[in-house]
Amino acid sequence: MCPHYPTVTPRCSQATWELDVSEPNETFDIVILGGGSGGYAAALRAAELGLSVALVEKGKLGGTCLHNGCIPTKALLHAAEVADQTRESEQFGVKAELVGIDMAAVNSYKDGVVARLYKGLQGLLGGAKNITIVSGAGRLVAPNTVEVDGKRYTGRNIILASGSYAKSLPGLEVDGERIITSDHALVMDRVPASVIVLGGGVIGVEFASVWKSFGVDVTIIEALPRLVAAEDEESSKALERAFRKRKINFKVGKPFEKVEKTDSGVRVTIAGGETIEAELLLVAVGRGPNTAGLGYEEQGVRMDRGYVLTDERQRTSVPNVYAVGDIVPGLQLAHRGFQQGIFVAEEIAGENPAVIDEAGIPRVTYSDPELASVGLTEAKAKEQYGADKVKSYNYNLGGNGKSQILKTTGFVKLVRVEDGPVVGVHMVGARVGELIGEAQLIYNWEAYPAEVAQLVHAHPTQNEALGEAHLALAGKPLHAHA
Ligand SMILES: Cc1cc2nc3c(=O)[nH]c(=O)nc-3n(C[C@H](O)[C@H](O)[C@H](O)COP(=O)(O)OP(=O)(O)OC[C@H]3O[C@@H](n4cnc5c(N)ncnc54)[C@H](O)[C@@H]3O)c2cc1C
Repeated sequence: MCPHYPTVTPRCSQATWELDVSEPNETFDIVILGGGSGGYAAALRAAELGLSVALVEKGKLGGTCLHNGCIPTKALLHAAEVADQTRESEQFGVKAELVGIDMAAVNSYKDGVVARLYKGLQGLLGGAKNITIVSGAGRLVAPNTVEVDGKRYTGRNIILASGSYAKSLPGLEVDGERIITSDHALVMDRVPASVIVLGGGVIGVEFASVWKSFGVDVTIIEALPRLVAAEDEESSKALERAFRKRKINFKVGKPFEKVEKTDSGVRVTIAGGETIEAELLLVAVGRGPNTAGLGYEEQGVRMDRGYVLTDERQRTSVPNVYAVGDIVPGLQLAHRGFQQGIFVAEEIAGENPAVIDEAGIPRVTYSDPELASVGLTEAKAKEQYGADKVKSYNYNLGGNGKSQILKTTGFVKLVRVEDGPVVGVHMVGARVGELIGEAQLIYNWEAYPAEVAQLVHAHPTQNEALGEAHLALAGKPLHAHA
């Protein structure tokens, strides 16, 4: 049994613990370059459909999401929530005292979650008939061939899924000590006294939220005019209000100019000449496509600033070469990668899957408070349908029993086309990420407010807020004004 892939890995040599690939130019139905969310989802679905797959991974199966992204950050955010609940327990009549954050113990909890999921994934992939896992760095050396350590794997089809890396800015050198990215932040063994977070997007605000809960003095710097600027403006404003209340400092519309190291940390200068000092600078200015030097361009794959261009069926400009996940322009989310991977496997198998609607991909920011959305922002809907054809309704969580019990504030905002379906759902508040499942069904099934209004929502749940918002938009509000 191969230690990397503990269940069954085809042709795993006992002697060297390395893959024994004796024949050069082995041919598969699909060769996948990258075993992250996009790549491994494609492998699993293709194997289910009876296709033979070589899955090439140079690091750990599961990629960014499992090891450096979704899962470890959400574990930190949960530890942060426990810290806040302890600190604020007296308002619920519970006497508890927060005596400190033990980062070693937090990390061991987080790493335990990742390790269990990793083991499960290794079992799943290793145990799948038809999947050969190839350990090593791959390169596209012909339109149908990936080379790994001098060995060639030929695919009737190729899927590029090499993922992304944390970007920096010109003149901003990440040293991993005082100037760090999310990769470093996830393995820190201490709670810093103060942090500047450069970038008020999803990753930036999630780390800001964690650190504040751990007692850190946090300042976010964002060049755009608002935090989480891709979200509906009302969601950004609600997050900014909540962050102000939590004493998370932020400066929006203030591009970064320079950073200097000081005796005790860093000094950042922003547009206008203002300087801010802190122990650490987290660079969270987005993720770039991991495509350099992988041979894509040389093989004729059309690219734009490092991203691989595809059509709506994930086809690149080279026949039988597909691309999925973060290397394809659009939302950089794990579940988008999963869905694209499944799509391509089915496409190759001739199943003719339905094209993925990018706007129908749910988006959650797991800060405190959470933001969750699907579909179009109000501004986008007005652009698309005309301002006079779009109606919105904002249901305040103040009227929702469960939200009152949790002592959370926020809203559920619906955007609909006049006499038409709901085209956007935007939510802010504790735990609203858990409501996105229903919201995405409403959007993707093009439901009308009156249709959702007929559905019964359990009382008292936060889901009721979705029901109430639809009741109101259908002209029959219950615990709300029309
Ligand atoms: C801090 C952080 C938090 C995040 N939180 C969330 C979240 O809560 N929810 C969410 O949906 N998304 C989240 N994301 C985004 C999510 O992680 C990515 O969208 C997702 O991992 C993309 O999947 P992918 O398959 O495209 O790439 P990746 O997961 O990056 O996988 C690519 C894989 O390819 C491998 N590879 C690269 N080059 C080669 C090569 N030459 N040869 C062999 N293998 C190679 C890499 O080692 C890697 O394993 C987060 C990201 C970060 C950084």
